[in-house]
Amino acid sequence: MLAAGMICGKPGSYAFDLPRPEIQQADQVLVRVKEVGLDGTDFGMVSRGQPDIAEGRNEVVMGYEMVGVVEAVGAWVTKLAASDTVTMTVRRWCGICHPCLHNQSDMCMTGLFTERGIHKIDGFLTRFVVGQEQYIVKEPANQVWCGVLTEPLSIAEKGVEQIRFIQARIVWACSNPSHSFDLQTWGGCRTGLVVGVRPLGILGTALLRLAGVDTYVADIVPEYSAKAQLVKQMGARYIDGRTKTPQEMVDMCYTAGNLDIIFEASGAATTAVELINHMSRSSIYVMTGIPREGVTMQMDAGQLVRRLCASTR
Ligand SMILES: [Zn+2]
Ligand SMILES: [Zn+2]
Repeated sequence: MLAAGMICGKPGSYAFDLPRPEIQQADQVLVRVKEVGLDGTDFGMVSRGQPDIAEGRNEVVMGYEMVGVVEAVGAWVTKLAASDTVTMTVRRWCGICHPCLHNQSDMCMTGLFTERGIHKIDGFLTRFVVGQEQYIVKEPANQVWCGVLTEPLSIAEKGVEQIRFIQARIVWACSNPSHSFDLQTWGGCRTGLVVGVRPLGILGTALLRLAGVDTYVADIVPEYSAKAQLVKQMGARYIDGRTKTPQEMVDMCYTAGNLDIIFEASGAATTAVELINHMSRSSIYVMTGIPREGVTMQMDAGQLVRRLCASTR
């Protein structure tokens, strides 16, 4: 079975043969892969030439964003059947900590989790994959065309979910009952800045706009670029960050009042830290970008701590 990924000690990406996987446990599902998304995380792994491969293996299959169709199910599988459109989650539990034991490996305490296509275990850039039913998410039958975006969307969704969860404490922030954080229209009087028009930033923008948030999006691509045009079609306003300081970008957002949400999706560490200094009172900062290590900057630590303590209670 053809697969694509990385090989131990050889920089770059390669195609190689693997045995076709088979159902070996009653709770497993065999999935025919239809589409796999590759993004900056995959590119980073290949360009660094540092495959993260489990001990005893010589290669690892890449790709952690996927959509597929169920080919066969084990005897204990109850919620899935052949021909269902599905996607698979990425992280697998450490088997030790309480969050993982409660099926919340996103919150793993030990760091001993594995991730398909990212950390130790095979991803989905191949013909067939097998997984336990608990890690497989059924998609609406007519969503094959966009199901590959479910994994990155789940990251943006989690950020927005936490915004709603945390800000719901501040019930007196707005007197309009239709802006309650338990309603889909929670963003009606709120302003957000999304930094980065890569996939996560675009998906985050879509969610904020669906909630009615007055959304600004900043990146260093021209306004006529396809990505900037896409967020503008969602009703967001685009800021060309090539000629603006973080302060100037934030000032543009302030024309609408408070800057309630900063959604960082650029992966640029210095920008991400600098923006903390521009948070409004009682605002929320969602960080989704994971920058490379070894980025240094000079900063006023006193100002940073003052901001964090005084503005983000
Ligand atoms: Zn764990
Ligand atoms: Zn309101």
